[in-house]
Amino acid sequence: MRSLSIYIHIPFCVRKCFYCDFLSGPATDGEMDSYVNLLLREIREQSIFYGDHRVVSIFFGGGTPSLLSSRDTGRILEQIRDGFAVAEDVEITIECNPGTAVAEKLKNYITYGINRLSIGLQSTDDEELARIGRIHDYDSFLETYRLARTAGFDNINIDLMAGLPGQSIASYRKTLERVVGLSPEHISAYSLILEEGTPLYVNRNTYLFPDEDEDREMYELTGTALGEAGFHRYEISNYAREGRECRHNKVYWRRGDYVGFGLGASSMVENVRWKNPDRHSDYAVCVEQMEAHDRDLDSGILIHAAGSKAEQTAHITGTATERGMYIEEGKQAATFAEMLRRTGRCEVQLLTPLEQMEEFMFLGLRLTEGVDLGEFRQYFKKSADEIYRKQIETFTAQGLMERRGDRLRLTPRGVDVSNAVFAAFLF
Ligand code: SF4
Repeated sequence: MRSLSIYIHIPFCVRKCFYCDFLSGPATDGEMDSYVNLLLREIREQSIFYGDHRVVSIFFGGGTPSLLSSRDTGRILEQIRDGFAVAEDVEITIECNPGTAVAEKLKNYITYGINRLSIGLQSTDDEELARIGRIHDYDSFLETYRLARTAGFDNINIDLMAGLPGQSIASYRKTLERVVGLSPEHISAYSLILEEGTPLYVNRNTYLFPDEDEDREMYELTGTALGEAGFHRYEISNYAREGRECRHNKVYWRRGDYVGFGLGASSMVENVRWKNPDRHSDYAVCVEQMEAHDRDLDSGILIHAAGSKAEQTAHITGTATERGMYIEEGKQAATFAEMLRRTGRCEVQLLTPLEQMEEFMFLGLRLTEGVDLGEFRQYFKKSADEIYRKQIETFTAQGLMERRGDRLRLTPRGVDVSNAVFAAFLF
């Protein structure tokens, strides 16, 4: 049985943080309600296609998923469990912002089987938090963290940011020390990216940002402070206690199959990538088109609910035509992509073997364990050395990359210049 991961996008926030260009924003209760109903319909439609997949991780991201009522969160999970084969030991993560999840909500999450909480803290310095427009201070984070532990969460991630306006090495060190003192299982530490059009970008000249040297020092400090505290870096910006890496994110980096539900959500299944529309009205049309498409198929040959596994498998890869005939393998992905386009999905892309190789390398190299060259050979029927000889030899000679048996990975120096290394693996 193939594995599948599910991403659910909840595009609501109390208000916009000053640095944020994600697909998110404030909404009324009515808007949230109508969105959740669309989401349930989309999940129901899509579940028809994945009868032969086993769901290994579910991730509620946003936005601020913890803004949804726990009843709605429960309904979404119920819909997933109704339609998909969810693994016993599934990892279910929900992102949460301080102050948006009270004790009862957190307890309900545990009842629904949510077993991982990711809390957006960013900094423990209240002035830094205010400068980037966060809705909370450090104390309200502490309260949420305490409530989460009391509710029974034993797998918590804390998100941090470096490079904030007015942030100093000393204040960043203090943030790291305080967070380490709380003993979470996982820490994500990203550098602020000034995104064009955000208030922080527009007003950038009125703030004092850490300079390049300070940025680098913060980056190095993250590695040493978290390393000394017993966290291991398993990806460029992610640190975990042994066995507590985020399974869901590893699926992205290892190019596993995942399907995204909701506004603007991305998916990749069997080397076909697509994205849902970004606008609510377009998303509503897309869900209607999916339903219409399935009605058409139902009235033809395929009756999904009663269909055999072979028929369902054929459906997801597009091997069943509307007359119930099976088409040859080479056309499967193209037929599937065509069905996605017809049902209003955007940026539908069939990855060529070269694009798949690029992704295999630049996503896999993000992981500290690196890429498995044996897996590359097995998958592409060619060796990575044959395809990337020049890059591998050059970076190895420069000490940016190292080979251990069948593993190729970045050295600590390579991680420092990872973007340049990744770029070299693009054709
Ligand atoms: S909480 Fe997250 S998604 Fe919402 S506005 Fe802030 S950064 Fe953006």
